[in-house]
Amino acid sequence: MIEPLDRAITELKKLPGIGQKTAERLIFHLLTRDPEDVRRLSDALIDLVEEVDRCKICGNFSTGDKCEICADSRRNQEKICVVSRPWDVTKLESTQKYDGLYHVLGGLINPIEDVSPEDLAIDDLLERAKKEEVREVILALEPKTEGESTSMFLVKKLRPLDVEITQIAQGIPVGRELEFMDKATLGKAFEGRRDLN
Ligand SMILES: [Zn+2]
Repeated sequence: MIEPLDRAITELKKLPGIGQKTAERLIFHLLTRDPEDVRRLSDALIDLVEEVDRCKICGNFSTGDKCEICADSRRNQEKICVVSRPWDVTKLESTQKYDGLYHVLGGLINPIEDVSPEDLAIDDLLERAKKEEVREVILALEPKTEGESTSMFLVKKLRPLDVEITQIAQGIPVGRELEFMDKATLGKAFEGRRDLN
């Protein structure tokens, strides 16, 4: 195969869910498109890596030090909702049932994959939860094994602090990631959260 083709296919194959066949199909498709389209795609990807950063406060995607949510003074500063990944924030925001702040852990505790509490933004969460204005920490982690054990770990750490600890309702099917849940179910899960103190 000629070099530019080979190189593009090799790079695409590094993405999740893309094997040799899919990579070839995508590349051949791109070659039939208007070159301007392909250039726009490539510019978008470059902007993505150059401009998208993580919020210094909550870990959400951001184009500056503070994400849009942390920078918005109309958000309820008394509540922090804990999620594992930034796209969970996007998903929960789409329910329009929540007006508080978020905290992105950056993953879940997982001994098999060698992810320990120190690898996650847990200390930052505890620091934020100690602030006087914070009254409630809402756990919205996936109801699968790692999500459950991470929630249990957080409850233990948060209990000595003066905050209410709640968890979004367990109407969520086991093993489903927040990302793939429909808005209505997720919205209900938010409203029916239970107390863990
Ligand atoms: Zn933020």
